[in-house]
Amino acid sequence: MGDARWDDEYDVVVAGSGAGAMTGALAAASAGLRTAVLEKTGVLGGTSAYSGSAIWLPGTRVQERAGIADSAESARAYLRALLGDENAAHREAFLAAAPEVVEFLERDPALDFEFRPFPDYFAAPGRLDMGRSFVPLELPVERLGEVAGLVRPPVDRDRAGRGHSARPMAQGRALIGRLLLALTATGNGDVRTGTPLTGLIVEDGRVAGVEAGGLRLRASRGVLLAAGGFEASARLRAARGVPGSADWTMAPDGANTGDAIEAAVRIGASTGLLDQAWFCPGLRTPDGLPAFTLGFRGGLIVDGSGRRFANESLPYDRMGRKMAAAEGPFHLIFDARWDGLPAISVPPLAPDEQLASGRWVQAATVEELAGEIGVPPGVLAGTVARFNGFAEKGADEDFHRGEDPYDRFFSGGGPCVVALDQAPYFAAEVVLSDLGTKGGLRTDPDGRVLDGSGAPIPGLYAAGNTSASFTGPVYPGPGIPIGSAMAFAYRAVQHIRRST
Ligand SMILES: Cc1cc2nc3c(=O)[nH]c(=O)nc-3n(C[C@H](O)[C@H](O)[C@H](O)COP(=O)(O)OP(=O)(O)OC[C@H]3O[C@@H](n4cnc5c(N)ncnc54)[C@H](O)[C@@H]3O)c2cc1C
Repeated sequence: MGDARWDDEYDVVVAGSGAGAMTGALAAASAGLRTAVLEKTGVLGGTSAYSGSAIWLPGTRVQERAGIADSAESARAYLRALLGDENAAHREAFLAAAPEVVEFLERDPALDFEFRPFPDYFAAPGRLDMGRSFVPLELPVERLGEVAGLVRPPVDRDRAGRGHSARPMAQGRALIGRLLLALTATGNGDVRTGTPLTGLIVEDGRVAGVEAGGLRLRASRGVLLAAGGFEASARLRAARGVPGSADWTMAPDGANTGDAIEAAVRIGASTGLLDQAWFCPGLRTPDGLPAFTLGFRGGLIVDGSGRRFANESLPYDRMGRKMAAAEGPFHLIFDARWDGLPAISVPPLAPDEQLASGRWVQAATVEELAGEIGVPPGVLAGTVARFNGFAEKGADEDFHRGEDPYDRFFSGGGPCVVALDQAPYFAAEVVLSDLGTKGGLRTDPDGRVLDGSGAPIPGLYAAGNTSASFTGPVYPGPGIPIGSAMAFAYRAVQHIRRST
């Protein structure tokens, strides 16, 4: 007989359904624990489903299979060089969990990964020039059958209110789809969409359950909060001083407004790193929403004065931080040689639509273009002339663009500084976007949420952007947000399993 105080009873309740949440839910359900996944929106996957699903989990069987000379030791050297030893215990927990979580996942017939070259983001000891991250294999939509519609579609289709195409699910959709397949096969996972977590229920000093979607759900072994950050909350961003804007975040509409963080704070949880996000440049689509833009292989970016202020080919979080420190508005300036955007954008941008909507402007000369975007014509012309001089010399004497392997990865080995001399010239507004905030609940290396005195709150765990990232204000390499979310969610569940 169920307890009348509860609408439903589980061993583990997971709030959110991104990569960390689904990994944690699968780990719990496959260990025989009755598990609920609570998702606020109507579909699963959040920003994780939008993502490229690069996963930075070092020293695993995936890199070994691909013949990549990766190891926990080299990853440790790299992380240590970037982060120091401040979060050494978390770093070690992450490194220890990486091979374990991958082995656990690949034991499941639904989950397979392959190495995908994508350079680490900093020149530091232990860096691998082709990176160490990997991605899930694509997933034919038919394999998911009727639950395919539960997976959030790619950014462009989702924003347009369209479902999946007939093509195999790729990237983040493949990751969430595969985790959902595996979770469903356990028979122990209950997926509840349209069920936002609104509160945590404490009994005898322990988190005993949640309030969600008007229900009281028991979690006798533990609650894992993996419900994203607060990137879409203008109120919380302003309160915490997160650069950028809730209107320019890449998170799905209506998803990540910090609900889980606030619920935990109400019962005494402590927080950290709250002014931080995984930043990126964003170009605006005709509807004004941002498109995550990376891998600039041409063009240059100017600030509000019409001058360059950074190496445009910097890894996107590093470029975002340069933007946060500079004065906008920012514009990408490029010429006709590129036949469209000289960069990668998610979602992809159609030049005709961009121009028709006025998000991009074009002009016959650089001076005229300057007039269109409101910067002094002489300054912009000087910026382009100086840049063209660097292109001729093959050296960016101001910002060293093209000197790092990351820069050259996107130019296909060719030059990264390419002259702007083929009219017409184009300008696209660039805004400071983000892939999610990265500050949140303070946790111990097992994902246990800590209270103000540093003691774990019994029964409460957090992972992903709901927790304060162990990487601090640094984005070390492709796949760190998702890799660390998966590793700490997995560790949290191992802790739940060990605890009675
Ligand atoms: C285009 C793009 C590409 C990217 N590529 C990569 C990449 O290749 N590798 C990488 O590591 N990172 C990548 N990122 C960043 C990464 O996707 C996110 O930072 C990460 O997925 C966040 O994971 P999360 O689980 O914290 O949040 P999410 O994946 O956003 O999941 C949070 C979920 O919780 C739900 N939720 C919110 N509030 C509640 C509530 N109250 N109750 C229940 N559910 C709730 C949300 O609706 C959402 O579904 C990319 C991001 C974008 C936009």
